[in-house]
Amino acid sequence: MQYREKLKKADKIVIKVGSSTLTYSNGRLNFNRLEKLARVLTDLRNQGKKVILVSSGSIVVGNEKLGLTKRSEKLPEVQAAAAIGQAVLMKIYQKFFEEYNQLVAQILVTKDVMDNSIRKNNAENTFNTLVDMGIIPIVNENDTVATDEIEFGDNDTLSATVASLIKADILILLSDIDGLYTNDPRKDSSANIISIVNGISREIEEVASGAGTTFGTGGMITKISAAKICNESGVDMVIANGKDPHIIYDILSGEDLGTLFLA
Ligand code: GLU
Repeated sequence: MQYREKLKKADKIVIKVGSSTLTYSNGRLNFNRLEKLARVLTDLRNQGKKVILVSSGSIVVGNEKLGLTKRSEKLPEVQAAAAIGQAVLMKIYQKFFEEYNQLVAQILVTKDVMDNSIRKNNAENTFNTLVDMGIIPIVNENDTVATDEIEFGDNDTLSATVASLIKADILILLSDIDGLYTNDPRKDSSANIISIVNGISREIEEVASGAGTTFGTGGMITKISAAKICNESGVDMVIANGKDPHIIYDILSGEDLGTLFLA
């Protein structure tokens, strides 16, 4: 529990929401959840915290605009849907955040931003300037120039890259799972959530690659990759269920929820 205590002091916070958290099972946006998310994040901002949101959803929103009931098999068409959906998604976020008088900004990045010192420095400066101005950056992968997160990951790795880039205190991955389980909870009723992971051991990787732990688009494997990036960058990471965005408050008040990967 002492490890959870330090989360109370987290100042720079990255929250990642995946497409499954933002939508109903029929692929339509869950406005109730989006609205709660905007309220909670603005409230954290009002507490004086620096908040960054990494949000997927451009493809599902783009598909909805195009009247498609399922994702295209062709990658360029998925990218096109993302280009259409990203603008609409930002309009929706703006509407919800405006309710609480909170300004937001759009940042589209790719993880290779870390490989070039000039681009890395530019990105870091933009992030820091925005959060110092009290603005909440809303980040997504630039799906026109990269397809990594479209193909596999749903922004898990990207959010860890962002958390590392801006030297965040914590990354909270909100997903459709409660955390990392000891076994597949659908098959094994005695499976428990692992509360704290101190270093990514081979055992943890094996648990994560278990057949039953591939919930969500990215599954657990990309979440473990994200944890590794966070580990190396001194960022704590929590995987928790995003069905009620109020869980962010509980995590930040040190409650034993989800799985905490210690930096
Ligand atoms: N950038 C993508 C999006 O916003 C990632 C998520 C996905 O693959 O659905 O939709």
